[in-house]
Amino acid sequence: MELDKDIQTKQRGFHCNLCNVNIPNKPSLEDHVKGKKHQHLLRLRAQRKAQEENSVFVSGFKPDTSQTDLKEYFTQFGPVVDVIMDKDKGVYAIVEFSEPKNVQTALEQLQHQLNGLQLRVKPRERKDFKLSSRGKPQNTQISLDKLNHQLCKATSVNEQMEKVVEFFELNDHEKKVRDLLVQLLQEVFTEFFPDCQILPFGSSVNTFGIHSCDLDLFLELENTKAFQARAKTTGLTGENQSEDCQSEDSILSDIDLSTATPVEILELVAAILRKCVPGVHKVQTLSTARLPVVKFSHRELNLQGDITINNRLAVRNTRFLQLCSGIDSRLRPLVYAIRLWAKQKQLAGNLSGPGPLLNNYALTLLVIFYLQNRDPLVLPTVNQLKDMACEEEECVIEERDCTFPSQPFSVPPSKNTEDLCTLLFGFFTFYSQFDFPASVVSLRDGRVLPITDFLRSDEEAVNAAEASSPKPKRSSAPKLGPMNVLDPFEQNHNVAGNLNERTQKNFKRECCDAEKYCRSLQYQRKSAKGKSWGLVRLFAPPSEAGPRPKVETEKIMEVGISFKAAILPEPLRAQLALAGKGFRGLWFAKVCSAVQMVFQDILKCSPSEETRTADLSQSLDKANRDGNEMEVNNNQSLEDAAPQAKSEAGKKRPLIMEEGPSTSTATQAKRQKLDVDMEHPEPVHWTWTQRNCVWAGRRKVRRDLLKTSDETSKPEGGCVDIESRVTQSIVENEEKIPGLLFKVDAEVVGGNENTMVVLRFHPSHDTAGIFQDFFHFLESFLPKMAETILGRAEDVTEMS
Ligand code: ATP
Ligand code: MG
Repeated sequence: MELDKDIQTKQRGFHCNLCNVNIPNKPSLEDHVKGKKHQHLLRLRAQRKAQEENSVFVSGFKPDTSQTDLKEYFTQFGPVVDVIMDKDKGVYAIVEFSEPKNVQTALEQLQHQLNGLQLRVKPRERKDFKLSSRGKPQNTQISLDKLNHQLCKATSVNEQMEKVVEFFELNDHEKKVRDLLVQLLQEVFTEFFPDCQILPFGSSVNTFGIHSCDLDLFLELENTKAFQARAKTTGLTGENQSEDCQSEDSILSDIDLSTATPVEILELVAAILRKCVPGVHKVQTLSTARLPVVKFSHRELNLQGDITINNRLAVRNTRFLQLCSGIDSRLRPLVYAIRLWAKQKQLAGNLSGPGPLLNNYALTLLVIFYLQNRDPLVLPTVNQLKDMACEEEECVIEERDCTFPSQPFSVPPSKNTEDLCTLLFGFFTFYSQFDFPASVVSLRDGRVLPITDFLRSDEEAVNAAEASSPKPKRSSAPKLGPMNVLDPFEQNHNVAGNLNERTQKNFKRECCDAEKYCRSLQYQRKSAKGKSWGLVRLFAPPSEAGPRPKVETEKIMEVGISFKAAILPEPLRAQLALAGKGFRGLWFAKVCSAVQMVFQDILKCSPSEETRTADLSQSLDKANRDGNEMEVNNNQSLEDAAPQAKSEAGKKRPLIMEEGPSTSTATQAKRQKLDVDMEHPEPVHWTWTQRNCVWAGRRKVRRDLLKTSDETSKPEGGCVDIESRVTQSIVENEEKIPGLLFKVDAEVVGGNENTMVVLRFHPSHDTAGIFQDFFHFLESFLPKMAETILGRAEDVTEMS
């Protein structure tokens, strides 16, 4: 019974909800359910369920009440196995009995009194057991329960948002403790690195810190380097030898800071931390990080810290976040609420190192960018801030302009008067309609920059990224990915470059869900019946937020091919860059060519007469109607760039690649023409027939083929030639099936949603369910194969 509930049948294979894994087929499913992990989780769940059934939730006692007091009191209802208390303030406790009937007896008693106070005793909330909650400290859950309790008592969402800040922000004591540790480190490090400076940055000081946040520190060694250089010179000339530098035990006598690598210096920093700073332990140097770092913990202060060198930009961007908080007081509550929402939805907060989730810095930049785009705007752009700064505030770090006013009062107050409740709602609306793969977020300009500006040759992309900086630093272009957020100062750095497609899609989907929820009365109005409302429901982890409405996948047969700038070869990037706003149409054309190649050349489907003569030409027909001059450059006509228009399906026509974008006026004119023609391309339709089960036993055929060829093994869909041969072998050796006739409609979407090509399948009849099997195969094979073709310069050339 239990098993049925955990295992879900998917279009391809199964999904185990308990272990959160996909299982491809029945034999693997049998192995899985007998396996260690599944069995362990079954036991754990049963144990948790028993604990839940055997325990009560208690509140209303005095803060100094001990576990023993509670145990003694509740023993009258039956043997008490355990009492778990909220350690911070002693406000809540969970009392676990040995049997459910003791819970019943305790709940039946109308009043409970302990030390003169009336206790509230409630049954435990039933929570779905989730793998992700494993290892989550019980304290965190208790804290959230406590927060939710306070939020439910508030009278408005605005008040709830202020309460979230109060609940999480660093208090004066915590700030003091952090200051003291900084002072201690300053003293110790000055002993070894004269004139050095320890500067805190990140969430401890950027006004968005929470109780458990790490302490980010920058060890500034510029003055020490100067000191060492001076000492060397005076040493050489024999005058005034510096004791600090020359004494035998001085670290500076071991290392030359002007030539040492960052990792060498950090190894020294780690040694000092280990040997000379009381309370410090777990010291570790991470030399492979983007910026090498030494991590450490402080035992008594219960703090984790990071020390970096060469990180002045982070100190400056922390000042920028502080300034933004000072300019508009609505930023802090918004950031705290959105950080908590993102954490609860597992969108942000990589546990260690650069995981695939958003980091808090990138998330905060997304909030600021949204506020720069509100009407009227809440926060000015970074360029506007620069203009508000005076001469003394000019700041250039590593040739990057980091100028902004030092004080918020230099910035005129915003004309926007919207309340927090509306602004939070607006955040979700803004990003639920965002075309992430085709946009580059620029806080410097306060607007989205088109992705095409970043697809040109490396040098031009660098120029685009740094166009608004007076002294652009010549370096590499930003790394493009499913989400692109430029650092406001390091303009060629994508702070969301670590994200994978899944996180980006989850972020967007959660924004859509949150936006829908914010439209409801449950968000906007306090519940009269004491139910959770406002932020409480927004912060519910995915399992508690209720089941997601099921999409009727049985009826809608759709496959999506996402726009992925990062996989495109240089010549195709150059073409798309030149197409400007028409890039989507041009990319659509390329995808259609690739898809057609997959059906016709790789999967050996036969095109219908209809497909051969008319359907594919629609985009081109439109282009033909709209303009006579369709040349993209001297050699390439738009026809070459459009879908297999007017050609027989699958008949290859060479596509001549451009050398690169041109900036001439003539090209600009042509580009405009393309913008008109290709901005809204017409959908494309094909009709195909498949006469073999080309999906069945494919892996085996592939393996056998690879054994007898010199090709190196590539994942399925990784190589056009092998996949064609696999199909050929199936066609030659396996029996034919009655022809499967199906139509495919392709359209490109984007602009106010993620840019992608959507392919819809319509089988003419499928009573035997064979097309379903073919479709399941296509769901993963088609995007992979199309991406492989799009990703290869030679295939792009062949394609049309
Ligand atoms: P928290 O520690 O609470 O997660 P934080 O803002 O301190 O939040 P960290 O990841 O510790 O985040 O980063 C510390 C600081 O380093 C940030 O405030 C920012 O100044 C800088 N930083 C972090 N990630 C990036 C990044 N991807 N690009 C540029 N600077 C970054
Ligand atoms: Mg931090």
